[in-house]
Amino acid sequence: MTEAIQVAPAPYKRIATEEAFCPPEMLDRYRRLIEAKTVPEIGFNSMWGFYLDADSPRCRFIRDHLGDLGEARLAHMDQAGIDMAVLALTSPGVQVMPAGEGTSFAAQANDWLADAVARHPNRFAGLAACAPQDAVAAAKEIERGVNRLGLKGVIINSHVQQQYMDDTKFWPVFEAAEALDVPIYLHPATPTNRLIEPMLERGLDGAIFGFSVETGLHALRLIVAGVFDRFPELQVVLGHVGESLPFTLYRLDYMHAASVASGRYTAMGPLKRKVSDYMKENFLYTNSGVAWEPAIRFLQETIGVDRVMYAMDYPYQYKPEEVTALDGMKIGAVAKKAFFEDNARRVFKLAG
Ligand code: MN
Repeated sequence: MTEAIQVAPAPYKRIATEEAFCPPEMLDRYRRLIEAKTVPEIGFNSMWGFYLDADSPRCRFIRDHLGDLGEARLAHMDQAGIDMAVLALTSPGVQVMPAGEGTSFAAQANDWLADAVARHPNRFAGLAACAPQDAVAAAKEIERGVNRLGLKGVIINSHVQQQYMDDTKFWPVFEAAEALDVPIYLHPATPTNRLIEPMLERGLDGAIFGFSVETGLHALRLIVAGVFDRFPELQVVLGHVGESLPFTLYRLDYMHAASVASGRYTAMGPLKRKVSDYMKENFLYTNSGVAWEPAIRFLQETIGVDRVMYAMDYPYQYKPEEVTALDGMKIGAVAKKAFFEDNARRVFKLAG
């Protein structure tokens, strides 16, 4: 990973919008949680149990760089031509911790992040972590993160101790984000225990597949539960080209209408808009981990040029040559600048 190319300048700034960090204390905490076997999450114990100690170059690179919000990260951003990184606490963040500890750890992580942004205000912006397992406290921390620390949105790492946020007990988080006019980045976590077993059997639980199933399911549950009828201005960001959901917009609309009409599910009632309407009006998309022109162009065509943003997913996927490949996409100059810069500035309210 050290012999990466130097990416050439472009006629736009490049803003990467799904970039991970982790205070070293959080990795220590994960280690103790895993050793004590206190977290009943198969995916967390499997994934972090591996990443904390594995000796592969990729695992070492990730461990060595998650905790750096200084010179090494900036050097990698320079090499890859990234002008600005929107940083978020890495998955699963504090969502595996007991509620009280998660709440206080989220505040510490947000302070740590805000300090880094203050040191490098032209290079870093950040999303506020919170512990939705205490949703009222989470809403307060989101408000503090945005209003006092200047953070630009909220990071949620999918399920909350096996529960999905379509449960109304979590809705204070949505209420806070909507009221503050900041987006929620719904980022993957390892799938819930109910989902993960057949994936683990074949090594498909992680970023290769399971993350998208878990997170796409979570996003669909929010839509079908009517979260966006209750919070019509709420904006949710999905990475990984929308966790593949946009590719089945037609079927989602058709089968949602058919299912509602059939009356089969008490949990699936009529909505004010079509599923695809929510996906076009309440969701934003990044290409994190998917440096692939056909998928990005498909999203621009079906969702809209103003809702698709660039992300690298550093340090999990540090490939400067991907930036060069995306610079070369066969799309117009306005659409390309929207992808790399303008949409992120608007969505996260970044100074120009
Ligand atoms: Mn990520």
